[in-house]
Amino acid sequence: MKVAIVTGGNKGVGFGICRGLAKVFNGDVLLTARNEERGMNAVKELEKEGLTVKFHLLDIDDPKSVAHLAGFIKGKYSGIDVLVNNAAVAFKQAATEPFGVQAKVTIATNYFSVQDCCNQLFPLLRSGARVVNVSSMAGYLGLIKGADLKAKFATSGSTLTYEVLDGLMKDFVDSANAGDHAAKGWPNSTYVVSKVGLSAMTRIQQQKVSEDSNLKDVAINHVHPGYVDTDMSSHKGTKTIDEGAKSALFAATLPPNTDVKGKYIWSDCQILDWVNGPIPGNWN
Ligand code: NAP
Repeated sequence: MKVAIVTGGNKGVGFGICRGLAKVFNGDVLLTARNEERGMNAVKELEKEGLTVKFHLLDIDDPKSVAHLAGFIKGKYSGIDVLVNNAAVAFKQAATEPFGVQAKVTIATNYFSVQDCCNQLFPLLRSGARVVNVSSMAGYLGLIKGADLKAKFATSGSTLTYEVLDGLMKDFVDSANAGDHAAKGWPNSTYVVSKVGLSAMTRIQQQKVSEDSNLKDVAINHVHPGYVDTDMSSHKGTKTIDEGAKSALFAATLPPNTDVKGKYIWSDCQILDWVNGPIPGNWN
């Protein structure tokens, strides 16, 4: 039996992705959430629409929770066919926490926790698997203005390693705490840095799986859902969650032997140059 896993599936774009997968995926769709009640309510909501998904608890910030899911998947499915890393956090504009605190929390979840999920779940990827990292318009490399910094992110292959990228993320958190992040070329948004980090990580991940002789045709891409009407956007986004799910569903269902690998996929499913752009002007 094939299995597709979606993190943060109880609401917003993740819920839209679960709904879309439930319609087209030939296997079990696992809607995961960090809160059982919220997750089960989402499952029931889809049941009312005649769609079937299964629930599993998953808090991406808790390595034990991730390990528990990995054990369950190994026992029940013995592999993973689709993994959508959707769960993320964003402080509101009006948040009063100091910038350094926001940086620590945002980078921890949106970058390091996603990395931990991948580290624990990737050993289960089957040949032909599709992994979708839900990045953002905010994950576009052009938002890093410091030329030296940008050049570091832009490198791929053996130059940009997990160690180097982790170091960049830690440097941002330290700089945010010290208050000299802008002078070092970092943007004034913890969310932007977390998503640029996730997008850069996607490129490393694709490189690694492509080099793995035990895995064939695994595609790992990073997507921008558009500006979506969810709690995260304080419901200012203009797209519905189903419209927002479109690019993730495209990346999750890429056909066999696709050459869409390690790519930055916009909300309308066009493939953009993450390093040099351009990106659409309206960002939607
Ligand atoms: P949302 O409505 O705030 O939903 C976020 C989801 O992530 C919720 O299910 C939340 O669970 C879950 N989550 C957060 N931390 C988690 C953790 N530690 N473990 C497990 N689940 C966790 O946000 P959204 O707008 O749907 O965003 C979905 C994705 O799209 C995110 O990656 C976001 O960055 C990206 N994105 C959104 C927009 C937009 O306009 N909305 C634009 C670009 C990119 P709880 O319900 O338990 O909090």
